[in-house]
Amino acid sequence: MFIFELMNSSLDTAKHQGQRKLLIDRLAGMGISDQKVLDAMLQVPRHWFMDPGLESHAYDNKAFPIAADQTISHPYTVAFQSELLEVKRGDQVLEIGTGSGYQTAVLLTLGIKIYTVERQQELFKKTKRLFSKIHLHPKKVIFGDGYLGLADDAPFQGIVVTAGAPSVPKPLLQQLDVGGRLVIPIGTEEQIMTRFTRISEKEFNKETFGTFRFVPMLKDKN
Ligand code: SAH
Repeated sequence: MFIFELMNSSLDTAKHQGQRKLLIDRLAGMGISDQKVLDAMLQVPRHWFMDPGLESHAYDNKAFPIAADQTISHPYTVAFQSELLEVKRGDQVLEIGTGSGYQTAVLLTLGIKIYTVERQQELFKKTKRLFSKIHLHPKKVIFGDGYLGLADDAPFQGIVVTAGAPSVPKPLLQQLDVGGRLVIPIGTEEQIMTRFTRISEKEFNKETFGTFRFVPMLKDKN
């Protein structure tokens, strides 16, 4: 399935595709080894998720501003978090921090059922409109506070937080399926990428994977 075929191919030109291929090769060179993640990122036109004024930079391995003082994550970070989730087709995944929708699109392309939550109203509306325009269909796109997770739709085989959390929100651990993984950057100034795997009802395995910089995970809606 190639969901983006629905769009006019002129909006994803050979030049875009060539730049994207170079970016994906670079990510592989930086250590991203999950071929499914690389293939998904090769399919998703990142420039659709960015301000048109920044289109020529869409395939730079950099974060860029989107609306409401937020950022679209580095491609490397998107790849790294997607890889750590170790999702398989049909899994149910919760994303906290929809932002531009780029990571949502990558996860959808991996064939998973995605629920995504954004606390910032302007971004939520903008990205929801974009999803319908490009025929992307997450299971749910929610305006809400990700600190609470999404109890009604739990359990999730994967949860990914795309903003820096000062500590791990307990509801997110509770909403993980046994065997499921929560990938969350933890810290204030900078964050340590952390993965919690639920190994039983009461036990979690915690692993850490280096330092990153995210916009902060904030409480309540705005
Ligand atoms: N993956 C996104 C990252 C966007 S930046 C992308 O690549 O575009 C992180 C996003 O998390 C921002 O949009 C911010 O508004 C959102 N966010 C921060 N705290 C949140 C919370 N408590 N609940 C939901 N979203 C939150």
